[in-house]
Amino acid sequence: MPIKLEKIDTWIVDIPTIRPHVLSMTSISKQVMMLVRISFSDGSVGLGEGTTIGGLAYGDESPEGMKLAIDRYFAPLLIGRDGSEPAALMAILRSQIVGNHFAMHAVETALLDAAARRAGLPLSALLGGARQQRLPVLWTLASGDTGRDIEEAEAMLAARRHDTFKLKIGKRTMPEDVAHVAAIKRALGDRGSVRVDVNQAWDRITARKGAQMLADAGVDLIEQPLPRDDRLGMARLTASSPIAIMADEALRGPRDALEFVRDSAAHAFSLKPAQAGGLSAARDVAAIARAGHIGLYGGTMLEGGIGTTASAHLFASLPELEWGTELFGPLLQTEEILVEPLVYRDFALEVPTGPGLGVELDMDKVEHLRRDGPSRTVTGPSARENV
Ligand SMILES: [Mg+2]
Repeated sequence: MPIKLEKIDTWIVDIPTIRPHVLSMTSISKQVMMLVRISFSDGSVGLGEGTTIGGLAYGDESPEGMKLAIDRYFAPLLIGRDGSEPAALMAILRSQIVGNHFAMHAVETALLDAAARRAGLPLSALLGGARQQRLPVLWTLASGDTGRDIEEAEAMLAARRHDTFKLKIGKRTMPEDVAHVAAIKRALGDRGSVRVDVNQAWDRITARKGAQMLADAGVDLIEQPLPRDDRLGMARLTASSPIAIMADEALRGPRDALEFVRDSAAHAFSLKPAQAGGLSAARDVAAIARAGHIGLYGGTMLEGGIGTTASAHLFASLPELEWGTELFGPLLQTEEILVEPLVYRDFALEVPTGPGLGVELDMDKVEHLRRDGPSRTVTGPSARENV
């Protein structure tokens, strides 16, 4: 008997962060995620997540926009169809809907989750199988304050939770940023690796100078220093920089990956399933990187438990992950929405091994935190906060 795709639920959930997260283009104090649950006629369900960094400050999809796209355009294309073959359903979506990578990712995750649950296998098995069960996870220091960042890094080292740190820079002048980074690297010494993420804030000449100064300060890598459309600038910087240059915002799927390889425009890719357009597209990006001798890093959109776990299954299945991962999203959030929280121990995330994603949503929590939930009906001034 075919398994019919019966229903797609989507929710917007707001979760405050443990501290302000300061990036070059925005500062966030809460994370907004779009959760999707797909239900099938055999009683199986699948979960997915679409999350961005700072609404529309980072990319061209927002959680609210994803919800609208799925409710209004994705769902009618899927409901009533045989739900047992995720690739066939994704092909239908891709033939009718342009772009919408984050929403595509959320839906594909839910389809794969349900398929893996029905098979009694972890999601990674549908991606070729896990090569490792523990993924190294770095921590992002983004308070904007040098002393506070050093304290935070020391606490993470003492708790054996993280020994690699990424600093968000680009908001201040380059020399001010380098002084901030250098002070942190000096304090940590050989006990911690330090990288920076400029989030596109520099121009070519600043990046050229900055790369040398950061190299002198002992920094290992610079993430997306230049605007995402300046691939020639990235290529020139990659050729001249003494330390690794990573592409992030500029990578929006396999075609971008191919062009970066062709132009030798990065030493490393930040692999983000949402940006790529789903787990299978991200796997294609990884294959192109590997063929082009580009190192891989498991990136995050600061997703919560569902999106983080989806990425973890993909990253665990890759042949190489030279730069580790930044799958710390749930640790930045003040509320846990999973029944069993993800386990972070000894500088790594343990990839869940149960069927599907291997995690369950705490639906009481979701009901409480969802924006249009019974306890959260938004009226008056707080409606503005949620924009
Ligand atoms: Mg980045």
